[in-house]
Amino acid sequence: MVGGAVRDLVRGQSAHDFDIATSATPAEVIGLFGRKRTIPTGEKHGTVTVVVDDNGARHHIEVTTFRGEGAYSDGRRPDDVVFVRSLVEDLRRRDFTMNAIAFDPIDEKLEDPFFGKRDLDARLIRAVGDPLERFAEDGLRAMRAVRFAAQHQFTLDPATESAIAERLEVFRKVSAERMRDELVKILAAPKPSIGLELMRSTGLLGEVWPELLEGVGCVQNRFHSHDVWHHTLAVVDATALGSPVGPPWIVRLSALLHDVAKPRTAEAKPDAPGEFSFFRHEYVGAKLADEMLRRLKFSNDEREHVVGLVLNHMFWYSAEWTAGTVRRFISRVGEKALPDLFSLRDGDVRGRGKGENPGVELDQLQARVTEEIASAAAFKITDLAIGGKEVMQILACPPGPIVGEILSMLLERVLDDASLNTVEKLTELVEESRKSGNGP
Ligand code: ATP
Ligand code: MG
Repeated sequence: MVGGAVRDLVRGQSAHDFDIATSATPAEVIGLFGRKRTIPTGEKHGTVTVVVDDNGARHHIEVTTFRGEGAYSDGRRPDDVVFVRSLVEDLRRRDFTMNAIAFDPIDEKLEDPFFGKRDLDARLIRAVGDPLERFAEDGLRAMRAVRFAAQHQFTLDPATESAIAERLEVFRKVSAERMRDELVKILAAPKPSIGLELMRSTGLLGEVWPELLEGVGCVQNRFHSHDVWHHTLAVVDATALGSPVGPPWIVRLSALLHDVAKPRTAEAKPDAPGEFSFFRHEYVGAKLADEMLRRLKFSNDEREHVVGLVLNHMFWYSAEWTAGTVRRFISRVGEKALPDLFSLRDGDVRGRGKGENPGVELDQLQARVTEEIASAAAFKITDLAIGGKEVMQILACPPGPIVGEILSMLLERVLDDASLNTVEKLTELVEESRKSGNGP
């Protein structure tokens, strides 16, 4: 057994994804288990998946032939895979000492030629061999180091840490998708700030999302204890994992981006020396976040959701909000996105570092939102009692942009006064709009 499962077992934690390394070639592995119980997952790379039937539960176990290191000419993947007959050679090409331990479950013996257990005990991430060489072979390893530091709350061995900064030109060749996958693992870690701050200090952040560096040293005002960068880290850490509409890390991703445009919109307050305001930073931020998420190849759904959360994160509830104001708020944010917006605000308040209780701001608004939603009011055009077809009939007009404009006008009216949402009353409103000249 090799890889992450051995690492986690040695630490006394439960393990998943058992990987097996063997001197047997892929053909030999298939011969041993038979074609029926094997899938030739990546025969070229030496990997065969063995399907194990454990009382009806099927497990997939990856069995990989001992590999040596081929040459890496592009910093991304070895040019050729070399199969070797030695376990130690296989362990030597693995990234970190804690990931280069093997366990023989039959002899119950650890093979640990690079002192991975010692480093695990010291909670250290250390490259196997010369870190400068290892990070030159494969640019992704630098980001894996930082990701493991966040996941396990470990520190980087100094030589390993300083080698990251010296190999950024290799990291730059890593595909956006792979950078993204590591970044979201950092966001899903118990304390993402460990990984994010390491990304900043090693220079990785400047390669992935340099926009975030603008927040370093960007001071705010009396409502905040931190500059924009440290506030952002605090908000990400304080934001809960989990989302009803997206992957668990999605709100933390919006936390990372919510104030990204503050530095660009900062203006000194004339009446308060040393304090700044950030007029419309949520609009500029939504646009910037959109570009950044595209660059890192997030899916359209993920991007749109995060951009919406950034755009809408600046709401200020007060008891004076009318039912109409609450409904407009629901309409603007979108019903499905509301739980995540509240979750972001919860983290945002905690991240101000002033010991405030987010419930003071949020509980009443949440209760009123729930009340409005339960009243089955209309929040979007498709909730209206009449649709485009009816509007065209009433106005005797062909399809065109005017139909959408009329529907938006109707929604505005219904958001103010929910009792207008009947076929009769909406028909009347459409007719009125024609008479008043606002129609076609
Ligand atoms: P996780 O718990 O996140 O799955 P893991 O250590 O199992 O962590 P994997 O990406 O599943 O990580 O890889 C399995 C093993 O393969 C690692 O433990 C490591 O030994 C090796 N490995 C993976 N990626 C690399 C890499 N880029 N360079 C060198 N070795 C690697
Ligand atoms: Mg794994």
